[in-house]
Parts: sequence; C-alpha cells; structure tokens
Amino acid sequence: MPAPLSGSCLCSAIRYTIDAPVAELRACHCTHCQKTSGAGGSVNVPLASDAFKITQGTPKRYAAKADSGRTLYRFFCADCGSPIYSQRESNPAMVTVRAGTLDNAGDMKITAHIWTKSKRPWSYIDPASQQISAQPN
Ligand SMILES: [Zn+2]
Ligand SMILES: [Zn+2]
Repeated sequence: MPAPLSGSCLCSAIRYTIDAPVAELRACHCTHCQKTSGAGGSVNVPLASDAFKITQGTPKRYAAKADSGRTLYRFFCADCGSPIYSQRESNPAMVTVRAGTLDNAGDMKITAHIWTKSKRPWSYIDPASQQISAQPN
C-alpha cells in the first residue's frame, strides 16, 4: 500500500497515520496476543517509529513482561479497548501496528507467521508463508 495510510480504534478516539510503504505483515500467534485480541493472535505492520504518528487522542499503555524477560509496551484505546500498537522497551525506534486498525489495507498479505508453536487449533497458516516457531530476531 502506498503511504500515507491511516487508522483508528473502534470508537475513533485514537487516530494515527503511517507515512511509509507497508512491505511486511506479520501474524503473531503468541499467548499474549491471543489474550489481548480475544482471538487467534494479532496481525502486525512492523515499522520505524518515525513513520508512525498518533494524530488524535492518547492511547493507554500496558507494560507486559515477555517470557524472555523483556518488557513490551502495548498501547490501546482506554475507551473502546482496541489494541493499536506495541513497542519494545529496549527498541523505541520500532513499533508494530495492529493491521486490523487500518482504515484501508488494500491488497496486503501476511508475509510471515511468528510464535507458531503456540498457535490455536483454529488458526489457519498459509503453508507458502514464512513460519517462525517463536520470536524472530
Ligand atoms: Zn477507541
Ligand atoms: Zn504476539
């Protein structure tokens, strides 16, 4: 999809723009993404933080400790509960934006599945996509 893209939470209190072409879409099947989505996991756009801008509202931040011991900040709308993006405490230069909050995803396709070792039995994984059993580097 060509830049700029825009997105929001369900109630539109939080709005954002992405000012970079989206080349990659990652499906995460980790247990934390399952809990926060209430579903099979999350689908994410990995991006440089510089390309991501909140244009309206202030997301609430939840600090989650991963099994690795690292802290992942999960940002969500405190009014409607939509997860918006996450950011590693150790790597503020990157964000991963929840693709389902985009206003228009065009013809984006999932390029990689991560944490496949904890995937739910109902989750479909395209055998042609890249699959990584846990956290990629
Ligand atoms: Zn909201
Ligand atoms: Zn995850």
